[in-house]
Amino acid sequence: MADITIEQFEAEARAFLDAHSTRKQAEQKFVWGEGPDKVAVFEEKSREAELADVAKAKAWRTAKFDAGFGWITGPPAYGGRGLSGAHERAYQALEAQFEVPNQSSFTISLGMVAPTILAHGSDAARDLYVRQLWRADLIACQLFSEPGAGSDLASLQTKAERDGDEWVITGQKVWTTGAQYSDIGEVIARTDPDLPKHKGLTGFIVDMRAPGVEIRPLRQMTGGASFNEVFFTEVRVRDDHRLGDVNNGWNVALTTLMNERAAIGAGGGGGGGVNMYARIIEMVRHYGLDTDPLVRNELADLLMHQKVAGYNNQRALDKIKSGQMPGPEMSIAKLAGTQNMRRMCDFVARVLGPKLVADSGEWGTYAWSALILGAPGGRIAGGSDEVMRNIVGERVLGLPKDTGIDSTSAFKDLKVGTQKA
Ligand SMILES: Cc1cc2nc3c(=O)[nH]c(=O)nc-3n(C[C@H](O)[C@H](O)[C@H](O)COP(=O)(O)OP(=O)(O)OC[C@H]3O[C@@H](n4cnc5c(N)ncnc54)[C@H](O)[C@@H]3O)c2cc1C
Repeated sequence: MADITIEQFEAEARAFLDAHSTRKQAEQKFVWGEGPDKVAVFEEKSREAELADVAKAKAWRTAKFDAGFGWITGPPAYGGRGLSGAHERAYQALEAQFEVPNQSSFTISLGMVAPTILAHGSDAARDLYVRQLWRADLIACQLFSEPGAGSDLASLQTKAERDGDEWVITGQKVWTTGAQYSDIGEVIARTDPDLPKHKGLTGFIVDMRAPGVEIRPLRQMTGGASFNEVFFTEVRVRDDHRLGDVNNGWNVALTTLMNERAAIGAGGGGGGGVNMYARIIEMVRHYGLDTDPLVRNELADLLMHQKVAGYNNQRALDKIKSGQMPGPEMSIAKLAGTQNMRRMCDFVARVLGPKLVADSGEWGTYAWSALILGAPGGRIAGGSDEVMRNIVGERVLGLPKDTGIDSTSAFKDLKVGTQKA
């Protein structure tokens, strides 16, 4: 199977896509005032609508996996097809021409948790979960952050205590994306409180429906509830569901976080992609600002930043595809993506002015508020902009190490993110 040529592979993929999906209309030009008036980072949906979308996404992924296109570069032992990155790119280019359900519910599951299980899981865990995750029989979430541990993840307090062949986990996680529809989760817990904080941690895979797991939604300023608080009360986990060695959880977490930055950075430079720019350009025309030299200048600047970040991300992603571990370049990619999104939001807010905050019914105005209120989340998720700057400063520019919060500061005891639902 591994020596299938790209041409043969493309013919196979085209036949699958033609049989299971419909081709997109040729070059849909964005027309101001037509089509759905929706612009959002976190879509506001009811839980029922969200579950229906997840079910559609799962059905598509399962069909694609069964046809041999679900994990093109993955190892055959776990259901992958063992083909090259070129085969993967060829499939992606073809799939982009078809209407397929949104696959964002798998970003954490496949972009972060599955690679971590493959790298650090026991044989039993790999056999049990990797294939099922790629086939979308299961979805996984990431349970790292806690009310007192976000940027300083190593301060986390959720504890796991050994009891024979099992571990007993107790504590609270927060901001868990997609916990509401996940089957399993990757947890980092403290297994030795006497060791230095980075050293006493261990990773586990938990069953999100096990007794003692309680999931509570968190309402965002956009109105939606994509995140959750997750409480663990004496949740039992078998030892073969441990990720890596006992007290080596920091390395397990780093594997996940590096893949997270790659998954977030893979967005192509932030700012929502080409369709978003078509919408912005038409908005500028609609308000008669397309001849304003300052507006034109700013718009060109936006697009250039987006292009440069996109090329830079491609370079980093190619490195990953060739089997190298993603490094600080993913922090640059993440930072560029969120900065470009910020630039775009500032620009839209300046063009629309008060129309942005008044729900007047005028097409293409108030809808942007969902994006502008959702965008700041990207500057925090997966490592905040400030933390990314520290990484770039230290590991790329070779600047002195961040001193952390000064122990003499009046803010040293400040705790953020401690709210309860
Ligand atoms: C959209 C979204 C999705 C998320 N999904 C998940 C998820 O699925 N699973 C999960 O485990 N977590 C998730 N998180 C949580 C996320 O990882 C944390 O919010 C993030 O790590 C920051 O932690 P914190 O919120 O505790 O803020 P803190 O770490 O307390 O930071 C507060 C402020 O201090 C700044 N700061 C902190 N340390 C430094 C420093 N050394 N130098 C300079 N400035 C600093 C930060 O930049 C920030 O502005 C998500 C968050 C968001 C916004």
